[in-house]
Amino acid sequence: MTNDKIFETEQDFIEQYREECVARYGTPFEDLADHERFFALAELIANKGRAIFPQSHPKGAKKVYYFSLEFLLGPLLDNYLINFGIRDLVADGIKEMGSSLEDLCRQEVDPGLGNGGLGRLAACFLDSMAHEGIAGYGNGMRYRYGLFRQYIEGGRQVERTDNWLANGFPWETRKDGSSVLVRFGGQVVRHEENGKFWFTQEGGEIVRAVPYDVPIIGYGGKVVNKLRLWSAEPYTEDFDLDAFNAGDYARANKFRSDVEAISTILYPNDAGEHGRMLRLKQEYLFVSAGLQTILRTYEREFGSDWEHLGDHVCIHTNDTHPAMCGPELMRILVDEKGVDFELAYKVCKEAISFTNHTVMPEALEKWPINTFRNLLPRLYMFIDEVDRRYRDSLANHLAPNDGNWTNVLQNTAILWDGQVRMANLSIIFSHSVNGVSALHTQILKDSVFHEFYEMIPHRFNNKTNGVTHRRFLCEANPSYSKLITEAIGDVWLDDANELEKLTAFEDDASFLEGMEAAKKADKERLAAYIKETAGVELDTNTVFDVQVKRFHAYKRQLLNVFKVLDIYNRMLKDPSYSPRPTSFIFSGKAAQSYTFAKEVIRLINSVADVINNDERVNDKIKVAFVPNFAVSNAQLIYSAAEISEQISVAGAEASGTSNMKLMMNAAITLGTLDGANIEISELVGPENIKIFGLHADEVEALRASGRYYAWDMYNSDRDRLGRIVDMLTDGTLARLSGNFESIHDYLMVDNDPDLVLRDFHAYAQAWEELTGFYGDRAAWNKAALHNTAKAGYFSSDRTIREYMADIWHI
Ligand SMILES: *Cc1c(COP(=O)(O)O)cnc(C)c1O
Repeated sequence: MTNDKIFETEQDFIEQYREECVARYGTPFEDLADHERFFALAELIANKGRAIFPQSHPKGAKKVYYFSLEFLLGPLLDNYLINFGIRDLVADGIKEMGSSLEDLCRQEVDPGLGNGGLGRLAACFLDSMAHEGIAGYGNGMRYRYGLFRQYIEGGRQVERTDNWLANGFPWETRKDGSSVLVRFGGQVVRHEENGKFWFTQEGGEIVRAVPYDVPIIGYGGKVVNKLRLWSAEPYTEDFDLDAFNAGDYARANKFRSDVEAISTILYPNDAGEHGRMLRLKQEYLFVSAGLQTILRTYEREFGSDWEHLGDHVCIHTNDTHPAMCGPELMRILVDEKGVDFELAYKVCKEAISFTNHTVMPEALEKWPINTFRNLLPRLYMFIDEVDRRYRDSLANHLAPNDGNWTNVLQNTAILWDGQVRMANLSIIFSHSVNGVSALHTQILKDSVFHEFYEMIPHRFNNKTNGVTHRRFLCEANPSYSKLITEAIGDVWLDDANELEKLTAFEDDASFLEGMEAAKKADKERLAAYIKETAGVELDTNTVFDVQVKRFHAYKRQLLNVFKVLDIYNRMLKDPSYSPRPTSFIFSGKAAQSYTFAKEVIRLINSVADVINNDERVNDKIKVAFVPNFAVSNAQLIYSAAEISEQISVAGAEASGTSNMKLMMNAAITLGTLDGANIEISELVGPENIKIFGLHADEVEALRASGRYYAWDMYNSDRDRLGRIVDMLTDGTLARLSGNFESIHDYLMVDNDPDLVLRDFHAYAQAWEELTGFYGDRAAWNKAALHNTAKAGYFSSDRTIREYMADIWHI
């Protein structure tokens, strides 16, 4: 599919590109360095997007604003070219000019404005909203520094600043004219006149929020939406000239650095939010700035018809970070637009919806009331009043003297125990609460938000996550995509359900051979990247077994390491044992303050050091840790994977999305019945996935019984399992940077909270069986193809259509 509105012909592209080079650098294309060529091309393409943007949507179209503190975009050039339908034309043109699109794409920065799954989901949703043709806009933060860059030194994760803006970001446009002011602190003043009263805020600190817009191009190139990212800047230039003249430059610039700190860094997750005033400021800044802009736009279109805001505007809150949307919208409506309190609350609920992303208790965000009230005194008054009315209304839901009353209150009130509970705030201000996989939503209903669910069951719904197949299949895996398009045409880019047509090729020997060749090429591409970045040489004839994701105890990278060590030990002990030759590939970051997760990274690198340097096993197994996991190298890894490790302890992973991306790329899942793995398993059938381990209800029952003992596991299998536990502390793995006492204690003193030892044997056996099956190449390729064929359901296009139908009512 080509879009002739963009470039008439290849020659037309070449001409425009040459002109852009000269206009930008005053130098012809031939004399430019690759990074300059990239910037000129980016400018040319971005301008095409900007030209389409203003007339993208009909007047009066319902708008969705997707509020998320994270958007993990990944590089954009290739994505834009695919969505404009001009990738081949541009690639050919550049080739004709004596360069290559791939080389230019390598120049692009990968903006790390997110931690992992949650931020990537937001980015996939932007792509799909534009594809579905709706006016769907992202609202987030423009962090000066993205998530840290990860380096490995002596096996350890080392963090360095991600100065992603150092060379400029070609896709953004600064919009000074759309700046808004945001106030922190100060006092609330009550006014009264003729029996009416109202409040104003005075004093405090006023910050200027400046938006930067990034175009989001829908596939087909007809719709261009935007992602608006906010940056904090000083409102007034309080430069201290005296201090400067006295040589105290830091003091002279303090007014600036204090304010800019708000948008300086992205906080890593998994590390608790407590006491981090800056985080609270970030949350309020992007919420307030976003809402002010929405209301300004709405007022231009509909005047002061505030009552019907929810008919025209959807405000979706991605997790609890934008939870202040509710009270802030009320504040603006009541204080600035003169709307009555009851009506304002009703309007908020109609406009706002909320997605929960995790059942981890430490991730349910809370703020101390005192901190909150000092920073946002007027906002707090609205929260306090809504909480008070909510408590009163409980009396209507529950019979008087119901002994359950305190329990319900304790679990659902916004204010409790000196804290503002952001999840409850989000639910009380929304008309829809959704989980992100069938199991996760069930757990929300059964336990996390059970009391809410009993009272307001209609508010809860499931929206199983999805990923954009245009990026994670078409862009990430050009060789396989080409094969797919040759077989079934290119409509699958538009409609992922078309992938189902691939089932017709499951017994087509020549297609399966082509598929195997494409996978081999992808493995070679990845092997070259791993050699360069990790210094490990992988044999592309081995199975590529992949676990790449954030490091977290519940994701159980540790279980995977145990399996690798088990295979290693067995090979040394029993010369007749011959496992399927395999390359174990790991990648992912651990939050800076998450000691356990960082120790697991060190363990993997230590195991890699031992195994990769042991000639007795080298021809069969190797281990590679790919540093600095991000969207760009994720695309290389997903496409080359053959086994997708999705081994979280059941009930802990809300959905997972790498499971979907890997499935699309024809990797076979080895996983627990957790998150969306369950739905993958139902779709592909038991013969096309390998499931093992305890189920969520069994995990819960085992924990509740209090009868799980890690030492029993250890003692019942001293030979294999016990031996691995011993290796953590006996020096075997210590060469690189010492033993692993803390991991040993986590298992044996803290009693193995994630049931690694409990699931070990089932897992080792499942791996054995799955890799045994790899020998039958035709059967393996058939199962792998079946995974791609069934992956259409996991396109975020489907997810977005469900949000549109059930939550946003578009
Ligand atoms: C998809 C993705 C994730 C999420 O992976 P999970 O295995 O679902 O946790 C994290 N990071 C990046 C860069 C991704 O692309």
